[in-house]
Amino acid sequence: MNYRIVATPQLGRIVIPAPVPHGFALYYTTLDFSGKIDAPNADAIVEVAREHFTVEATLTTCSQVHGFAARRGTPGDAWRECDTCDALWSTERKTALGIKIADCLPVTLVDPSHRVIANIHSGWRGAVQKITALTIDSLWNETRFDATTSYAYLGPSIRVCCFEVGEEVVEQFQLAFPDADRYVDRSRGAKPHLDLAALTASLLRARGIADDRLIDTGLCTRCDGSIFHSFRRDPKRGGRNLAVVAQ
Ligand SMILES: [Zn+2]
Repeated sequence: MNYRIVATPQLGRIVIPAPVPHGFALYYTTLDFSGKIDAPNADAIVEVAREHFTVEATLTTCSQVHGFAARRGTPGDAWRECDTCDALWSTERKTALGIKIADCLPVTLVDPSHRVIANIHSGWRGAVQKITALTIDSLWNETRFDATTSYAYLGPSIRVCCFEVGEEVVEQFQLAFPDADRYVDRSRGAKPHLDLAALTASLLRARGIADDRLIDTGLCTRCDGSIFHSFRRDPKRGGRNLAVVAQ
């Protein structure tokens, strides 16, 4: 297993993937935390980074609009939220970047050699708009990011086991990706199932991420017994899982 579950006083159970390079923090919150962010919760979130990874940071989050914009997160004195983007990146220490998810796929990049971190909210809409590839392009343009020295993480999200979609969604993927059919499973029921994690992993490999640095937790948010919020399972609960990366 390439993750462990750890109990914290601040956020309840969190999931820590492995490996996380020294000097960086990365974890996912669970059903034990609502995902609601305000100033006290933002403090609790960065306390966990300090206690479990000895990384001291201030949190930046984004409100997320299922778009493709990536913005730079910078260190500051207090939690802040970008209201127009779905991906955050930073080259500076003392920066924590938080993404909210409840079935969408969190994609996290860590380049320890060049001190670059990025956190991407990639649901199917973001994936069709190529948010992960566009964020990597921004990193290439604006930082010293090198995919060959980087780790990429695929966090808890709705997986092919549970991700039923309509034909109209399949069509959008077919328009966006020539090999989209490889990631559509028609053997699991009446409706097609989409393997967004596998599609994203293939894209990350194509951009230069090495196989042994591509860490897919394989965790499904929607499956019975999942310890994560799932919009499809509990639409009324309104909770969100957080993916938090910091340096
Ligand atoms: Zn599932």
